[in-house]
Amino acid sequence: MSSAPTITRRADFPGLITPDGNPWHYLDTAATAQKPQAVIDAMSHALGRDYATVHRGVYARSANMTLAYEAARRRTAEFIGAKSENEIVFVRGATEGINVVAESWGGANLKAGDRIMLSQLEHHSNIVPWQMLAERVGAAIDVCPITEEGLVDLDWLEANLTREHKLVALAHVSNVLGSVLGAKRAAKAAHAVGAKLLLDGCQSAPRMRLNMAELDCDFFVFSGHKLYGPTGIGVLWAREELFDAMPPYQGGGSMIDRVTFEKTTYAPPPQRFEAGTPMITEAIALHAAIDYTLSAAGSGGMESLFAHESGLARQAREALSKINSIRVLGPERSAGIVSFVMEGVHPHDLGTILDEENVAIRAGHHCAQPLMDHLGVPATARASFGLYSDEDDIEALMRGIERTQRIFG
Ligand code: PMP
Repeated sequence: MSSAPTITRRADFPGLITPDGNPWHYLDTAATAQKPQAVIDAMSHALGRDYATVHRGVYARSANMTLAYEAARRRTAEFIGAKSENEIVFVRGATEGINVVAESWGGANLKAGDRIMLSQLEHHSNIVPWQMLAERVGAAIDVCPITEEGLVDLDWLEANLTREHKLVALAHVSNVLGSVLGAKRAAKAAHAVGAKLLLDGCQSAPRMRLNMAELDCDFFVFSGHKLYGPTGIGVLWAREELFDAMPPYQGGGSMIDRVTFEKTTYAPPPQRFEAGTPMITEAIALHAAIDYTLSAAGSGGMESLFAHESGLARQAREALSKINSIRVLGPERSAGIVSFVMEGVHPHDLGTILDEENVAIRAGHHCAQPLMDHLGVPATARASFGLYSDEDDIEALMRGIERTQRIFG
């Protein structure tokens, strides 16, 4: 195997041990990441000794909780290189973030005859909300193809975007193939026709350095649980002017300025988009997850996490490619995610045999059925890496695959 990975933090993750004390080779980080003790502790303290509501309390505990909740917003803004914490709306996850944009921005800005550009490799959560919007307003959807290697075909995108396109929505990193989008080029192409660009950052936020100004997108979403944080918290980023012009997504407490039965006025963003009691403990734990991730990344920052995980993906690709019955999908340079198919073995069977070896992979369509259709397979097996992954995980995967080969002859 080639270069050794530089980051191994397995000991920080209590979930990486089986109940009988053996290492658990968790290769499903693209679905959801395991949690470091620091995040579990932050969540536990926030739910226990520190717990109170935010924004309304007159007592000290509530005021402290408000400070912690708003500190999480500031930390998130710093983490993604946003200009201000007012550009950060906490949502339930990436799915909700995309739905906010589709409902609120899309509802206000798209009309019959307008077009939305997606790509062949999108996750269902970056397809279905746009289909629902398109149906509601009478807009149409176009699909940018992917290259043979598995990258969004930016030549095609540039050649086929028109003034009718009001929105381009693309995965920054594919959850199936690990392909990294040429985001700046996509932004330039979208802006050249006056369209907005939404980036689905679910798979890039945990493994890439992010800077909103450099990416030049208009909306960015990601989920906390893929970034070593808890479920139930995600982030929607947009510039303040864009949020300012958007109507609320949901109505309720906290999102208002003044309520009367005659007329209600709304709070400015980000509060306008955070109706109801927010995900207080989840936001605080997300803060801890960002701190943890950056400390694990060390002085090399997020770039070293990318190098670590893409290095493991390369090693896995090399090892898998040596097996005749295996077809490895996606580009050589993958952001820590490798999909493959094994001739004569359904990915679910492979996943079940690997489970017996304490190796957890994902088998299925990965919420990307249009991509499966394009690849001509019903499902793939997927191994995805996190900051805690190491060469032992790849060796365990390969041992399990060899056993599967013996079983299936
Ligand atoms: N987009 C991508 C690329 C993803 O990988 C995922 C999660 N698998 C999502 C969107 C949806 O994220 P969530 O389910 O956390 O809302």
